[in-house]
Amino acid sequence: MRFETLAVHAGLEPDPTTGAVTPPIHLSTTFERAPDGTFPSGYIYGRDANPNRRALEHCLAVLEAGAVAAAFSSGMAATSAIFQALAPGDHVLAPDDAYYITRKLLGEVYARWGLEHATVDMTDSAAVAAALRPTTRLVWVETPSNPLLRVTDIAATVTLARKAGARVVCDNTWASPMLTRPLELGADLVMHSTTKYLGGHSDVLSGAVVARVDDDLFQRIRTVQIAAGGVASPFDCWLLRRGIRSLPYRMRGHSEHAMAVARFLERHPAVTRVHYPGLESHPGHTVAARQMTGFGGMLSFEVRGGRAEAMGLTGRLQLITRATSLGGPETLIEHRASVEGAHTRAPEGLLRMSVGLEHPDDLIDDLAHALEAA
Ligand SMILES: *Cc1c(COP(=O)(O)O)cnc(C)c1O
Repeated sequence: MRFETLAVHAGLEPDPTTGAVTPPIHLSTTFERAPDGTFPSGYIYGRDANPNRRALEHCLAVLEAGAVAAAFSSGMAATSAIFQALAPGDHVLAPDDAYYITRKLLGEVYARWGLEHATVDMTDSAAVAAALRPTTRLVWVETPSNPLLRVTDIAATVTLARKAGARVVCDNTWASPMLTRPLELGADLVMHSTTKYLGGHSDVLSGAVVARVDDDLFQRIRTVQIAAGGVASPFDCWLLRRGIRSLPYRMRGHSEHAMAVARFLERHPAVTRVHYPGLESHPGHTVAARQMTGFGGMLSFEVRGGRAEAMGLTGRLQLITRATSLGGPETLIEHRASVEGAHTRAPEGLLRMSVGLEHPDDLIDDLAHALEAA
C-alpha cells in the first residue's frame, strides 16, 4: 500500500471489544495474568509494553520501511539509547553541524563513559573517508541539517561507512519519512524527534528509533528503552499516532509554503542569503532533489547587518510566532545563535523558520511588512 494509506491505517484496527474506530488510550500500568500464569494479551507491565506504544511502533516501522521501532519520551532519549547501545572505545563520527544537543551528549556525557567521537563536514565525502577510524562503529547523519539546511548524500555515506565496518544512523527529523526514507538508502537506523513533524501539532514531546533489521544492535537499544525506562507515555503515543494520519498532506503543505517563502526572501534586497534545498542556488539542491520527494518546511535566511537587525525583524512580525522548535501547523521563527549559546555555529544575522500551514501569502505579507523597516 502507498504511504498515505499506511499513514492512516498502519497499526490501527477498530477496538475488538467495543468497536471504537478511534483507539482508546490504555492508561493501565499492569495487565492481568490468566489462571495458568500466562499473559494471554501479551502485555505484562507498562514500562515493558503498552497497546498504544506497540501500535505506534508498528506504524513507525512501516512508514520508515524498517523491521522494528522503539518509542521514547523525547528525541534525545532516543539518541541517548543509540549511544548507550555502543561500548567504551567505540568511535562515533558525527556531522559538525549535528543538532547541538547531540554534540553535547557526545562531548559532555558519553565521552566520560569512554565513547569516542569526532565531527566532520558530513557533506564532504573525502573528509568523511579520512575521518573514519578502525574503531568507528557508527556514522551519524542528519539531513537536511540545522540551521543551514546542508544536505548529506545518505547512500554515498552508507557506502563509505560499510567499507569501514561502521553502521549508519540518520536523524530524519527534518525530512520525515514522507520526504526521505534513509533505511531504503541503506542506513541501519533512523532516529526521530517525533516532537516535530510526526506529532505535527506542537503538543507532544517524544522520540523514536527505527531499525532496518531486528539485530543485536536494535536489541541493545530495546533493552535501554525498557530497562532505563525513557518510554513514550500512552497519551503521547496516542497523540502521535493521530498526528501521523495527516503527515503526508501536512508535508506537502509545508514544502509548498516553504518554497513560496524562500522564493520571496531570495528576491528581497534586505536578505543576503536564503538556505533552502528547494532553491537551485542551494549547494545541496541536486542531492536533495534525488534523495527527497519534497524539500520540506524548514529554511533559514540571513539579513543585512547582524543580531540586532535579525532580532529587530522578528519583533515587527505580527503573524509569525517567535519560538524555537518546528513541525507544527503554525509558522515559527527563531534567532538560532542566541538559542544555541556560546558554541553556536549559526551566523548572527541568521533566522530559522519552520514554515507552517497558514496561507503562504499571509506569511509573505507578514515578512514583507517586517522587512520594510530593515
Ligand atoms: C528537536 C530535535 C532533536 C531533539 O529532539 P527532542 O524531541 O527535543 O528531544 C534532535 N534532532 C533534531 C534534528 C531536532 O530537530
